[in-house]
Amino acid sequence: MSGDMLFRGPSDLHTHSRVSDGTESPSQLVREAAASGLGAVALTDHDSTAGWHEAAGEAQKQNITFIPGMEFSTRVGYKSVHLLAYLFDPTSAELVAETARIRESRLKRAESIVRRIGADYALDWDDVLAQTTPGATVGRPHIADALVARGHVPTRSDAFTGILHPRNGYYMPHYAPDPLRAVSLVRSAGGVPVIAHPATRGRDAMVDEESLRKLVDAGLFGLELEHRENTADGKVRLRELADTFGLVLTGSSDYHGAGKPNRLGENTTPDGVVQAIIDEGTGSQPVYPVASDEKLSG
Ligand code: AMP
Ligand code: FE
Ligand code: FE
Ligand code: ZN
Repeated sequence: MSGDMLFRGPSDLHTHSRVSDGTESPSQLVREAAASGLGAVALTDHDSTAGWHEAAGEAQKQNITFIPGMEFSTRVGYKSVHLLAYLFDPTSAELVAETARIRESRLKRAESIVRRIGADYALDWDDVLAQTTPGATVGRPHIADALVARGHVPTRSDAFTGILHPRNGYYMPHYAPDPLRAVSLVRSAGGVPVIAHPATRGRDAMVDEESLRKLVDAGLFGLELEHRENTADGKVRLRELADTFGLVLTGSSDYHGAGKPNRLGENTTPDGVVQAIIDEGTGSQPVYPVASDEKLSG
């Protein structure tokens, strides 16, 4: 089957819907992806696969390829490390249990952050609920939107650089597994793990050779190279590390709808890399455009 590409690029492998902290529904996001000229899009909501079904259905209507994914929250000490996971089995019991645990901890943590902020600003939990779709993975972006709605800050990004920034004392961490465990869980579920934005300011500590070697031994497949938050120096380093360890390099937008300046397709992943990821994933399948299927059978 390899050699024959069923998908058509350009491909954006990192996007968020309202299932986590994006501002659009999965189908709106897929429509936007098609309208912006993408041939393939992965939905990678934080710690949830709840948007896959809706996104896949819309992708078929739009005649673009849908690649199922997730951004798995992990942590090393104080540092949050995000792991993109593609094409895993969404019913894998261990993975389902781990992501449920993260989402519950995120919810409790958000309530605590809101209580702390509420001591100084007019803000309560109902304000946050008003910004959240039922069942969504709750994060600081929803609190940010509530702060905007209350008029405490002009935009979501201002909330992140101000009130929600760890230095301002309202921040709290949430539970997240070690990246090594997350890589193993994704692999056990037939998925393909790729570290998200590994060279952003403040997260660079993660990408030393020794930690990376352990992740590679556990099955890490790639690094997200082209991402607007990776630093220029960091990208040079990522290329060297990919060379050393035989990892693929991806590029993506990390689109969050109106919640972040990132635009769909601002970075894309080369077709050959997308195909390598598809060939590697065994836990779930991409949803291809109907046109490709017809070509295959006739
Ligand atoms: P949390 O995971 O709850 O600590 O919140 C961090 C998340 O907020 C990351 O996934 C970011 O991608 C997301 N985020 C969404 N919008 C923004 C923004 N405007 N500025 C910074 N981070 C943002
Ligand atoms: Fe996010
Ligand atoms: Fe991330
Ligand atoms: Zn993301």
